[in-house]
Amino acid sequence: MRHFAIVGSGPAGFYTAEALTKAYGDQARIDIIDRYPVPYGLIRFGVAPDHQSLKAVSKRYDQVAEGEQASYVGNVTIGRDVSVDELRGLYDAVILAIGAPLDRKLGIPGEDLPGVVGSAEFVGWYNGHPDFADLAPPLDGTHVAVIGNGNVALDCARILAKNHHEFEGSDIVGHALDALDSSAVQTITIVGRRGPHQISMTPKELGELGHLEAATPVVDGADFPPVEADDALEPGHRKSITILRDFAGTGPDASKARQIVFDFFAKPVRIEGDGRAERLIVERTVLDESGAASGTGETYEVPANLIVTSIGYQTPRIEGVPYDDRGGKFANAQGRIAGGLYAVGWARRGPTGTIGTNRPDGYEVAEQVAAAMPPGSDGGKAGGDGLTELLGQRGIKPTSFDDWRSIEAAEIAAARPGSPREKFVRQEDWLKILGR
Ligand SMILES: Cc1cc2nc3c(=O)[nH]c(=O)nc-3n(C[C@H](O)[C@H](O)[C@H](O)COP(=O)(O)OP(=O)(O)OC[C@H]3O[C@@H](n4cnc5c(N)ncnc54)[C@H](O)[C@@H]3O)c2cc1C
Repeated sequence: MRHFAIVGSGPAGFYTAEALTKAYGDQARIDIIDRYPVPYGLIRFGVAPDHQSLKAVSKRYDQVAEGEQASYVGNVTIGRDVSVDELRGLYDAVILAIGAPLDRKLGIPGEDLPGVVGSAEFVGWYNGHPDFADLAPPLDGTHVAVIGNGNVALDCARILAKNHHEFEGSDIVGHALDALDSSAVQTITIVGRRGPHQISMTPKELGELGHLEAATPVVDGADFPPVEADDALEPGHRKSITILRDFAGTGPDASKARQIVFDFFAKPVRIEGDGRAERLIVERTVLDESGAASGTGETYEVPANLIVTSIGYQTPRIEGVPYDDRGGKFANAQGRIAGGLYAVGWARRGPTGTIGTNRPDGYEVAEQVAAAMPPGSDGGKAGGDGLTELLGQRGIKPTSFDDWRSIEAAEIAAARPGSPREKFVRQEDWLKILGR
């Protein structure tokens, strides 16, 4: 028998667990440990609430958690409640799948002013992450800037631009919906250092901006290279650029009250305001041959009382685990950190790729584990029994997958009309449902 601990119950953790159950059959016991009683990582806390079909992938993860070989161990934070070294003593292999939940900083003056928030915070706020329930992003101003040219920036802009009933069928949390209902926001400027060809936005997410009830995209045709330049692009990317070109060609719909303005070739240099963010100062850029942006010295201001930075994420450090400072992730070679210690998902690769990218990633690491300790062998480790004992000694009460089902049932029962659930947001609310 082999015992494995997977730390993190997001896509990477679950795909790795699935791969290990297939590789080992009944010759392994796998504990999927998460800091929260609610599983699925960014499927719950990141993926946009109005993209429900994507969240359905969690059904596949449920099959793993409900199988004989795997157990969900919630309410346990590794690095705080139990160290990685302790886990390594209890399990044959420890696989870190903790994601990359920390916002990268812009590193410009004024970044600490009230009103400047990272996208992990802002997304966490509207998605019911306990750490950001009290964020209260300022929505009393007419202008917002979202810094970054990826899909997360688009998510943030779209959520800010939607009307109340456009959230029907979503699981946006009540506190965010109430705040958005009374929002004064009129103009959302998406700021990117480079040009349309350098965006990391996918066609579906871009296309949605053309179908919003009260908001219209604004794109300047002068920002584009000649249309022939699109021929060299990969087809999916070309499709995104075509959508942007169409937005520029059609022009903004004047009947819509809100605008989502694409401001390309604009590098943030500082944030100014009297006690709160009031404006973002950007420098006009040009691209060199390699596609890198350099400042021209010409600056201008983008008014904004709320500034959401969406420029990437980092994995938190955990004591005893080597870290790659540059990549903002655990130092690893193809997922291997050290003997019996691995990383998968965003903690392995950094914050890139879709939910599906984590599948081959998890399977590859499971293959390495199986090669190092073949199915049928025994490592003599205590596994989950040892963890239960250790947690008991420390007065920590873990939660099970059945506990999550109870929380989920309560969320479904509390749903407002048209919503799949009303997410309970705070750790104490989850534990109250469980009678703790
Ligand atoms: C805002 C946003 C929107 C996205 N939208 C999409 C989309 O529409 N489509 C798509 O394909 N992809 C999307 N993605 C990407 C997708 O979410 C990621 O590829 C995926 O979630 C990464 O999986 P992961 O398992 O590595 O990390 P995560 O999903 O972050 O999971 C990490 C898990 O580890 C747990 N954890 C963290 N620290 C500890 C600790 N110390 N101890 C115990 N547990 C811990 C966390 O609670 C969490 O459950 C989006 C990402 C973001 C940020």
